[in-house]
Amino acid sequence: MIFLKTEDEIELMRQSNRLVGKTLGELAKLIKPGITTAELDRVAEEFIRDNGAIPTFKGFPGSFGTNFPGSICVSVNDQVVHGIPNDDPLKDGDIISVDCGTLLNGFCGDSAYTFCVGEVDDKTKKLLEITKESLYLGIENAIVGKRIGDIGYAVQQHCEPKGYGVVREFVGHGIGKDMHEDPQVPNYGRRGTGSLLKKGMCIAIEPMVTLGDRNIVMESDGWTVRTKDGKPAAHFEHTVAVCHGKADILSTFEYIEEVLGE
Ligand code: MG
Ligand code: MG
Repeated sequence: MIFLKTEDEIELMRQSNRLVGKTLGELAKLIKPGITTAELDRVAEEFIRDNGAIPTFKGFPGSFGTNFPGSICVSVNDQVVHGIPNDDPLKDGDIISVDCGTLLNGFCGDSAYTFCVGEVDDKTKKLLEITKESLYLGIENAIVGKRIGDIGYAVQQHCEPKGYGVVREFVGHGIGKDMHEDPQVPNYGRRGTGSLLKKGMCIAIEPMVTLGDRNIVMESDGWTVRTKDGKPAAHFEHTVAVCHGKADILSTFEYIEEVLGE
């Protein structure tokens, strides 16, 4: 069932999503060679709780019976999504996708960003650029009168013709009081197909794009998703409210971009 949100509810969603953006901005200050993902997780959890919210990922039930142990998902290099924070230090040349979710005043925020650690090679930097562009092209289609398939089509058409892989097994989603609501929002699709987009729908759009082919494998921890060919993957995500003419982006990269000087 798709829940349409009122203007007041969308403002609450914006507050939760802005907190996610601020949390990612705090992490942007720390992401350097030598820091561990466990340290990033600790900082994120403290920041979220200090701001009166709950990290929604912590304890999230998985399909293999284990609850997610971290407050953020940290996916390094060939890890696509759902990486578990650990004590391995990040290295110069790594990339790290950080996915963050909050519950504030009863509403969820959800956003992700892929960061460079030190100096990253040009091919991988281009992957990040293309993935981020594909997110905004998807968002351009999150308007009243379009359909879910238009979003996925826009993402896919920006990535696949250039030789990048678009992951299919994991998708974006409706979001509100629950982190995952209907409808699913795939990063591939056909124009003019799928659910009709209506005013008040809130959805998380989150392309997961690979430098090689799109095949993935799940690690034995039951969470971490990697590319099968070992090539890097990027993940950018915004939560948006569907509007007439232009989507309202509820999450924000402005705190990250301020730190990165972008
Ligand atoms: Mg997310
Ligand atoms: Mg999401």
